[in-house]
Amino acid sequence: MNASLDILPLSSWINTEGKPLIIAGPCSAETEEQMLETATQIKEEGFAHVIRAGIWKPRTRPGSFEGMGEAALPWLQAVRKETGMPVAVEVANPQHIELALKYDVDILWIGARTTVNPFNVQELADALKGVDVPVLVKNPVNPDLQLWIGALERLNQAGVKKLGAIHRGFSNAQETKFRNSPMWNIAIELKTLLPELPIIGDPSHMAGKRAYLYELAQRALDLNYDGLIIESHREPDKAWSDASQQLTPAALGQMLHDLHVRKESYGSDYQSQLEVVRGKIDHLDRELLENLAARMSLVERLAEYKRDNNVAAYQVDRFREVLETRAGWGKSLNLYPNLVDELFKLVHMESIRKQTEVMNQVNV
Ligand code: PEP
Ligand code: MN
Repeated sequence: MNASLDILPLSSWINTEGKPLIIAGPCSAETEEQMLETATQIKEEGFAHVIRAGIWKPRTRPGSFEGMGEAALPWLQAVRKETGMPVAVEVANPQHIELALKYDVDILWIGARTTVNPFNVQELADALKGVDVPVLVKNPVNPDLQLWIGALERLNQAGVKKLGAIHRGFSNAQETKFRNSPMWNIAIELKTLLPELPIIGDPSHMAGKRAYLYELAQRALDLNYDGLIIESHREPDKAWSDASQQLTPAALGQMLHDLHVRKESYGSDYQSQLEVVRGKIDHLDRELLENLAARMSLVERLAEYKRDNNVAAYQVDRFREVLETRAGWGKSLNLYPNLVDELFKLVHMESIRKQTEVMNQVNV
């Protein structure tokens, strides 16, 4: 589906002197001192353009720290005054917008758990009619590019022209190295569809652990992202939320210093097309393996049943039937017959091995 946005370039609302936009600050505003000290240290490091802080925190489970709310907004005013830097907060409902604007917040962002809900996003868009404030939209938690684009369109149709996207990765169904899978191909597809839209990488929420921040930030820069948003706290290990992914301002300064900003253009070039296709292939391969694993657990159930009913693991008729039906399905999908045949012989062999293993287990 085609998409188009009527937006202003990033440089029209923030001056980064041609460098990637850097937004840094704690996951959450905790106390006035924590905010002021963290922000002052970030300013001294000299790399950041904007200070971020979460005031209303969407937590997965109740009982976690849910943010200081309105009480923290005057602290951000103090940060603005002390550092002279603009501040950004997450908003999730019209009341948040009203309060943030009342306390002079410069930039708003919409969190991943809000982008998923078009009703919610529309309410925010309606509340932003006639308001001249930049808004950054995080990707939805689920890997749905249309939902991400839809949220950007809703805001744009309400007149928000200072618009950008934040790529923070997508929820994992299984345990993986990263807290949220980057699925770079989705962000690249967004950039291909909407080349004028600034994209900011959020390696903090992708990583979940500070050890992975560098590689993710570098990857975002290699893809020519327009900026990075990274969580930084004066005492990361004592942070009230997202402690393991935060860095001290000094460590963040060092990391940003070590990153390489490359010059290649990105969008419709050859490299990014490759990236899109490879990303899709990766995704499909993972699904292939997930299906294989699901098939094996059914085989295990089958084996238990056979064991309990004293039936042999291997039944030649069933094997023949499996090969024949799969050959037919493969043919209708235009797959090379040998591929399908060899594949199911392998799958069947593994299935027999697994069943024999289960059937020989002592039934306790
Ligand atoms: C955050 O930026 O602290 C946050 C809650 O992020 P996300 O919406 O990406 O989970
Ligand atoms: Mn966070």
